[in-house]
Amino acid sequence: MTKTTERRRVVLKLSGEAFGGGQLGVNPDIVSQIAREIAAATDQVEIAVVVGGGNFFRGAELSQRGMDRGRADYMGMLGTVMNALALQDFLEQAGAEPRVQSAIAMTQVAEPYIPLRAERHMEKGRVVIFGAGAGLPYFSTDTVAAQRALEISAHEVLVAKNGVDAIYTADPNKDASATRIDTVTYREALQNGLKVVDSTAFSLCMDNGMNMRVFGMEPAGNITRALLGEPIGTLVTA
Ligand code: UDP
Repeated sequence: MTKTTERRRVVLKLSGEAFGGGQLGVNPDIVSQIAREIAAATDQVEIAVVVGGGNFFRGAELSQRGMDRGRADYMGMLGTVMNALALQDFLEQAGAEPRVQSAIAMTQVAEPYIPLRAERHMEKGRVVIFGAGAGLPYFSTDTVAAQRALEISAHEVLVAKNGVDAIYTADPNKDASATRIDTVTYREALQNGLKVVDSTAFSLCMDNGMNMRVFGMEPAGNITRALLGEPIGTLVTA
């Protein structure tokens, strides 16, 4: 279902890697810049954010090093909550009104995930940050962004990337013959193994008619542009 309110409503996916600037933990300068770019669009767009946690832990990596996968994935999910709280703080500083909802109960720091309440927040101009992924091991936050977008009737999923400005036929940082793609269908993306977003997220969007835009966080201002609906990066459609 892709429908919706009259105002543009989007889910923005931010990777944990972006929050850490390639390092472990949170880089306040980067998160503050991201928050300012989000805050600049709140008067025109209803915004929910799904944050990743790769700057802390990725379950699959920890399990390859001997940990139980489920437990390692829960550590990954807890990492996303730390990022959510950091973003909440900097959004407040930037003049926005953020609310964090967590898929794992932790009522001292976040509301529980309640989709109707999230929609109500957005209608009031608040930015909703979804933390703790789906609360389920073996999922990624890309997939959660797609699922949340469907559940709260967003118009589009916006996937912000660092180090790349769109989807390419191959990794442009490794393959000089890689060419940039402006529009692609989910089926083509899956068939051609375009891995910039995970395949579960692609197929969920494909099966439910949700559009996705994959764009680069650089240069500064791109997050605001994407939120406002500028056609930057690559549009992926069903
Ligand atoms: N994760 C999970 N279930 C979810 C979302 C995330 O198990 O619904 C775990 C998983 O271990 C993942 C980690 O949290 O590796 C961090 O999320 P992700 O890798 O999507 O973050 P990103 O790469 O976007 O920073």
